[in-house]
Amino acid sequence: MEIYRLPALSDNYIFLLYDRPRQMAAVVDPAEAAPVLDKLQQLDATLTTIFNTHHHADHVGGNPSLQQAFPDVITYGGREDKGRIPGQSVFLEEGDRVSFAGRTAQVYFVPGHTRGHIAYYFPPTHPDDSGELFCGDTLFVGGCGRLFEGTPAQMVTSLGKLRNLPENTRIWCAHEYTLKNLQFALTVDAENPTLQQRFAEVKEARSRNQPTVPSLIGLEKQTNPFLRWDHPSLQQTVQSHDSVQTFARLRGRKDNF
Ligand code: ZN
Ligand code: FE
Repeated sequence: MEIYRLPALSDNYIFLLYDRPRQMAAVVDPAEAAPVLDKLQQLDATLTTIFNTHHHADHVGGNPSLQQAFPDVITYGGREDKGRIPGQSVFLEEGDRVSFAGRTAQVYFVPGHTRGHIAYYFPPTHPDDSGELFCGDTLFVGGCGRLFEGTPAQMVTSLGKLRNLPENTRIWCAHEYTLKNLQFALTVDAENPTLQQRFAEVKEARSRNQPTVPSLIGLEKQTNPFLRWDHPSLQQTVQSHDSVQTFARLRGRKDNF
């Protein structure tokens, strides 16, 4: 399974998964159709699958045009998003399994950003390979999604599921927010040398317009404050000994950053 990262709108990424032997493609969170149709044409591929993580327009905006161009396409989304995702045909919940390109993804229910948000995790097929996590707006590189429809406790549970994935899991999140996220991270975790180094790398990469997605779970656990609610230095920053309260206070600061 090859993965292509297609920039869309102002700061979205659409991911196109390509099964070269079968010339079949899947797309994750098509913000718009045009970049997907262009890539499909270039690959001479048929779109068989749309994986939606949640209902926001910058994740499903391309659904209708793609469904029109490929009437047999299967459109996956979360069960709680029923009625909110255009053309949704399958309603997924935690523990469900979906297949593409001979790989099977596990579905995680990760509410918080929205009440219906799901993530797709493709475990590695060989022990040395990385798994692939498509997490929409739940986990970002250096950050996490805003809590539009969920509580801090829900988001800690959701992010906790993702944090438990193997360290070399690649994180394919839907936005290029990394530089601003790490600028914020340094205000709450200033003494973290891994974060300082990561910030320097990201600043350099962004100055050359290089993408910072994907990241790795192992690196995020060391540098992303929204996976570090139980770390003493972050608890000290927000004056709490409670994980959910720490997370909530960090999220509140970020909302006003
Ligand atoms: Zn969103
Ligand atoms: Fe989004």
